[in-house]
Amino acid sequence: MKSLLSLSLGCGLLLSPKSIRADAGLMADSKKVSAVEYLYADVSDANSILGAIDSGLLNTYQGKDRAVWEQVYRKKRAKLAKQLERLPDSGLSGADTRAIAAMRKQMKAFTGGGALFSPAAKCQDAARKNIAYADLKSALVACFVEIGNSLSFEGGKINRVSALDLLHESSDPVRRRAVFFAFIPLWQAINGNNEPDSPYRRMIAGAAAEATKNGSEIDNAARDVGIDSAEVERWLLQILDAWRESIGDATIEPWDFRFQAGEADRLLGKYIPRESLQPINQRYYRELGADLEQMGTLYDLAPRPEKAALAYTEFVIHGRIVNGTWWHTIARVSAPYERGGLFVLNELIHESGHVVNITAIRNRPAFVDWPSDLFAEAFADVPSWSTYEPVWQRRYLSHEAAEQLSLRALYSVVVLDVAWSLFELRMLHAPQTDPNALWTEITSRYLHIVPHPEFSWWALRVQLADLPGYMVNYGFGAILTAEMRLHISDALGAFDTGDSRWYGWLSERLLRYGSERDTRTLMQDFLGRPVSPQALLEQIHRLKPCSARGNW
Ligand SMILES: [Zn+2]
Repeated sequence: MKSLLSLSLGCGLLLSPKSIRADAGLMADSKKVSAVEYLYADVSDANSILGAIDSGLLNTYQGKDRAVWEQVYRKKRAKLAKQLERLPDSGLSGADTRAIAAMRKQMKAFTGGGALFSPAAKCQDAARKNIAYADLKSALVACFVEIGNSLSFEGGKINRVSALDLLHESSDPVRRRAVFFAFIPLWQAINGNNEPDSPYRRMIAGAAAEATKNGSEIDNAARDVGIDSAEVERWLLQILDAWRESIGDATIEPWDFRFQAGEADRLLGKYIPRESLQPINQRYYRELGADLEQMGTLYDLAPRPEKAALAYTEFVIHGRIVNGTWWHTIARVSAPYERGGLFVLNELIHESGHVVNITAIRNRPAFVDWPSDLFAEAFADVPSWSTYEPVWQRRYLSHEAAEQLSLRALYSVVVLDVAWSLFELRMLHAPQTDPNALWTEITSRYLHIVPHPEFSWWALRVQLADLPGYMVNYGFGAILTAEMRLHISDALGAFDTGDSRWYGWLSERLLRYGSERDTRTLMQDFLGRPVSPQALLEQIHRLKPCSARGNW
């Protein structure tokens, strides 16, 4: 998850001052614009530092506490708003004009702190029929925190991530069913009894109304690839069809799906205790040419009751040139990890993929920001998919699962994301649709999962409540991930066991632009052709059709 909001410097990652000065694109053409842009960078930092403090990671930053940062933020933001307004509308270079537009747009997303994915709202407010759309979303996210962080199971409490992990790992089918049922209070909080005015159904109606005005995440993803949203749906269906063809005819209960696909996770889980997550993550990136420690990345991986219920990455400090030297971006990663395991390790490596994405940005302050959601999520999976390749496992875990088991574990997760993408796409098109019936139709047809329309078991992802439509960035994003992985392997070489040129090579070709370049042009230039679903379909075709589930 990349978050929608962003320390200690001086390291080998700094470009030499000389090479920076030679790169004129990193500075504004007009002195006036340059001054405003540096003020923008300060406001941007104050905003993301407040976010880091409110996440519970820090009490102070650079010796200043929250109150001081808040003051800095308010004062400088007010000044920035005035100065941005005063900048002339004509007589500036094209680059400066684009930078001003970017700053004006991005500034609207500043929140001045507040805990991400852990709102002050209360879950019980979701039941109020007259609640405003934005407040309803916050209340639903609160349900994931309040209920999802303390599911009752076997006389104790577990969080949502651990419960999903248990669905991969518990060999006892009765126990798996019990884990699945532990989610029921969460599903009821999100979708009531699936009545037409349930909290989720009111929320998705609000999201659809918003989408007709401003476009949806699905419209954005379509634009980022240069197709229309009907074509997005067709591509998603092609991927689901490829999966369906690979799984044979047998049906499976929803609480058994992850277990049957997750044999690789079970075989390797014992070699990935919680305390090994970070050393493996850091070693892999070091061998890809990206030293996360030197980058000063802040990791906050311990569970806390009030903490965000999902893993995400955000800026703390936005990189910029200071006196001719590049001061690099500092990122933070937040996650609630109670346990280790391959699934969790894959997610941590995905988050670090976001870290290297934003740390590689070398651009003027206006563009030191996230690329599109689709690109960000797709890129983060480029390194993380390697964790399901036996050669990666051999090197970093000293043990490996068979290729077919590993691929099934990976693509079962991908295909669930594709199913959620299709679910949201259709809900946003027709918000009156019964979500349980739609989810049942998709999962029974393409994943051969036994129908259980009595449960809102699709309600497992925080994004569904917080950022309706966002799942497309994972499901449809997998198409871009497969494209990038294939192209890197062809052009640079395989990187599953590391390649110290990887980070520099990708920084130069894909990552350094930040929010400046649109994803469509970026991908077209990188691949030398438009994006297509072919690479992902070929990956799924690596799965050999099996006649019976027992063969997994
Ligand atoms: Zn992500």
